[in-house]
Amino acid sequence: MTLLAVENLQVEFDTRDGVVRPLSGVGFTVDSGQILGIVGETGSGKSVTAQAIMGLLPFLNGRVTQGRILFEDRDLLSLSETDYQAIRGNRISLIPQNPMTSLDPVYRGGAQIVEGLRLHTDLSRTRAAERAVDVMRSLGIPNAGKVFHQYPHQLSGGLKQRIVIAMGLCADPGLLIADEPTTALDVTVQAQIIELFRQTTREMNLGMIMITHDLGVIAHLCDTVAVMYAGTLMEIGPVKPVFQYPRHPYTQALLSCIPAMGMREDDLEAIPGNVPGVRTYPDGCRYHPRCPEVMAVCRTVPPKTAAVDDQSRVRCHLYPPDRGAVHETAG
Ligand code: SF4
Repeated sequence: MTLLAVENLQVEFDTRDGVVRPLSGVGFTVDSGQILGIVGETGSGKSVTAQAIMGLLPFLNGRVTQGRILFEDRDLLSLSETDYQAIRGNRISLIPQNPMTSLDPVYRGGAQIVEGLRLHTDLSRTRAAERAVDVMRSLGIPNAGKVFHQYPHQLSGGLKQRIVIAMGLCADPGLLIADEPTTALDVTVQAQIIELFRQTTREMNLGMIMITHDLGVIAHLCDTVAVMYAGTLMEIGPVKPVFQYPRHPYTQALLSCIPAMGMREDDLEAIPGNVPGVRTYPDGCRYHPRCPEVMAVCRTVPPKTAAVDDQSRVRCHLYPPDRGAVHETAG
């Protein structure tokens, strides 16, 4: 069942130097039980996409200027802020990037879970505390009763991140959005947290969006991958075929940068050039200044999204949308 449908999303922000448009032509769906990975370099628009779904843009001087966001068949963009509050943190939860900054250092970990639970449910304080400990146990937190009473500075990075995940899961969400949730963790703990996400989404039949710059995380966790560049979606499809036969030159370049076991530092690949800033998106295809396959048309005409098979789409002039264009704008 389709849980979330994002259609042809375009976002603007007001800044001191005028209006900027960091996102356009972004569309995807997430089903219950499905994990979508959104990958791209810094500045590709991954986090703005999450902010739009969470309804946070008005707090950041931003707005959606085009497109739709449907969640459980409700048009989120038509909701009042009061109605959004009933969904945000409740049916849609956000796991932020850094547990060190998302936990309040002066409150015990358990108290912070309870506070979130009481905000989004009508549980009593005692029932909320019991539920918090249950969720902590289900997330593999050893001595959950003891950890409940500990302050963030007494917990390891992995335990802090588990507390933040517990906060996200306690209110019984349908959709979990995790924004680079393992970046601050060491490799071993990162692997444990990824396994935890995999188990939890399956057991609770959650839809999940994993935002990351790490293709390894996508490969190990996700069903579908959406590749973003300079504020737009370049390629989307099931993880295995996209990784085996990437079609978009940017996806190919990203995958070629994954280091192989035993590779020397000198042999590591990097994509030449830089991601353009939001004020300097080039005309035509936004990737054209870095693309080894650039053609004359790429410098002036933004490519449309083309369906390349039943499940995959790509935005590139190498794949003309003659098999049924998906009419999205990115220019
Ligand atoms: Fe490269 Fe052109 Fe495709 Fe853009 S549209 S990725 S520049 S070939």
